[in-house]
Amino acid sequence: MSNCIFCKIANHEMDSDIVYEDEKVVAFRDLEPQAPVHILIVPKKHIATVLDLAEEDNELVGHIYQVASKIAEEEGIAEDGFRVVNNCNEAGGQTVFHLHFHLLGGRDLQWPPG
Ligand code: C5P
Repeated sequence: MSNCIFCKIANHEMDSDIVYEDEKVVAFRDLEPQAPVHILIVPKKHIATVLDLAEEDNELVGHIYQVASKIAEEEGIAEDGFRVVNNCNEAGGQTVFHLHFHLLGGRDLQWPPG
């Protein structure tokens, strides 16, 4: 999608602090971090929301969780614990309509989230 911010980041058309990249996903530091570690893991394929996932994307979602675990280890937050969050649509807090998973850690996270 030509006007999608996360497509632009995934295509290296827009600057971001990328911490991981492979042929399927890109992961970069959130511009407005909500925790000491706040990284967004984004599929390169444009998928608007989790509601738009197709069966053919099952492997992609599993891969995203594997990447999240790998980054959590590298960032030193795996042992203490971390959270992987997807916000869906307006009431869910989604503001960018390109599927992404927030990896948050480095502090005690509250439950339930606000
Ligand atoms: O789940 P939600 O859609 O609200 O998350 C979007 C996230 O993308 C926000 O945490 C926002 O800070 C981040 N963002 C970013 N870089 C941009 C635009 C948004 O890190 N250029």
